[in-house]
Amino acid sequence: MPGVAGLGTPADQGKGGGNRQQAAWRELARHSGNPAVVRAVTLAETPLIRQAADASGGNEDSVMGGAGQVKSAEEWRAELSPEQYAVCRCSATEPPFSGKWYHHREAGTYVCVACRAKLFASEAKYDAGSGWPAFFQPLTRTSVTLHPDHGKGMRRTEIRCANCDSHLGHLFPDGPRPTGMRYCINSVALDFLPFG
Ligand SMILES: [Zn+2]
Repeated sequence: MPGVAGLGTPADQGKGGGNRQQAAWRELARHSGNPAVVRAVTLAETPLIRQAADASGGNEDSVMGGAGQVKSAEEWRAELSPEQYAVCRCSATEPPFSGKWYHHREAGTYVCVACRAKLFASEAKYDAGSGWPAFFQPLTRTSVTLHPDHGKGMRRTEIRCANCDSHLGHLFPDGPRPTGMRYCINSVALDFLPFG
């Protein structure tokens, strides 16, 4: 799975991968001129909620090893449901208002359905009225990667799982405070771990 526009790949997510990812984000922001990306970069360099609490259980040491976990399409197809495969590995979008996490309000952590990496805190979830789960920030600054997406005649920013490169959704600059960002995520791409 090659990186896009020089962005970090899962292989970059080991020790020190965060710094490389931040550098890649800044590079992307410079070249894209996309306000959403520029704001996301700013966000990525500010402290995140629960970051301290998750310091010992964040992505980098709690998932399946990160680097080198490249799976074939056949392997992914065997592990994921057809709906999960279509969204996570083929960048499909689930129908709005169809997902099981859209109105979900429990306290806990949303993880990548493909690799179990922790991606979003319930505290950052809000109702954007869009039909998809929305978060105003990822769990940590290295939880997700951002990629330019010019498909379907639109200029959007794609969000992927930093650990396994699965497609999650898109980033929009119309979120609430404190970040002003909306991480619009397919329910199909997420699973949920309640607290306690
Ligand atoms: Zn993943």
